[in-house]
Amino acid sequence: MEFSITILGCNAALPGYREITSAQVVNVHEHLYAVDCGEGMQTRLGRYGLKRNKIDAIFISHLHGDHVFGLPGLLTSYAHYERRSPLHIIGPAGIREMMNTMMRLSHAWIEFDICYHELDHAGMAEVYRDRHVKVSAFPLRHRIPTYGYRFEEVWEMYNIRREKIAEYGLDAAMIRAAKRGEDVTMEDGRVIPYGHLVYGRPHIRSYAYCADTVYDEAIAGHVRGVDVLYHEATYLDDMRDKARERMHATSVEAAMTAREAGAGRLLLGHFSTRYGERDVFREEAERVFSPVELAYEGLKVTVQREKYLERSEKIL
Ligand SMILES: [Zn+2]
Ligand SMILES: [Zn+2]
Repeated sequence: MEFSITILGCNAALPGYREITSAQVVNVHEHLYAVDCGEGMQTRLGRYGLKRNKIDAIFISHLHGDHVFGLPGLLTSYAHYERRSPLHIIGPAGIREMMNTMMRLSHAWIEFDICYHELDHAGMAEVYRDRHVKVSAFPLRHRIPTYGYRFEEVWEMYNIRREKIAEYGLDAAMIRAAKRGEDVTMEDGRVIPYGHLVYGRPHIRSYAYCADTVYDEAIAGHVRGVDVLYHEATYLDDMRDKARERMHATSVEAAMTAREAGAGRLLLGHFSTRYGERDVFREEAERVFSPVELAYEGLKVTVQREKYLERSEKIL
């Protein structure tokens, strides 16, 4: 079952000729979740074969334009795609007013329910859950209210060991019980521990998204142990003062958070358009943490069930 992240854009502030601003899609068990919607996001969905009607929820980090100006375009586009299923939009307080104002003034035709979940909490809190994924939000430190998101695969059932079905003559109800993690009572009164009948719990895959933020020690606690950490690195480390002033992070600061969190791998993004050459971001970050990968449009990072067997590929 899939667990992957596709980068659709990772420029800071301004879309470029080739790359748009922050936009991603997380795929958990073939269900899609968008994270930030930079301007032009819907064109990238089409380019990478990601079906917009399969997006169940959209997570917005904050209301700066480079993270949200693609959202009104995406929402109004659904009139052409006959969307009927509800869409969850999770973001800082104000997201509802922002979208409703645009939809009202542009007389947008929305024929499905939009369920807004506005965030205004401190610390870590679960903000979304369905049968495939659980998402928690935690505050970042930026110029306006901003949240990071942690995605964790929801895993409900154990897998039964096929050979045990015949060995014990398990019926359907017994199999269901073992899969739920309940011990099974046989007709003769024997109790078979479920652990004897099922495979062990697989690794629960996780991903965290942190943009935009200044370096803050508290973030590592919220993203502890994730398989993949996406962290903004707007500037190289010689611009640490500028980063602090603008409430952004540098390559090295992103790596410090990954190291403190014990992340499986670090994905850097949200690069300032002042830099033409991006390899230096990785070189700087790798002095502190490894492995580091640079985000780019079309990069798909897949996390396998077996920990640390991730795979990255360019899909176009
Ligand atoms: Zn930004
Ligand atoms: Zn921002």
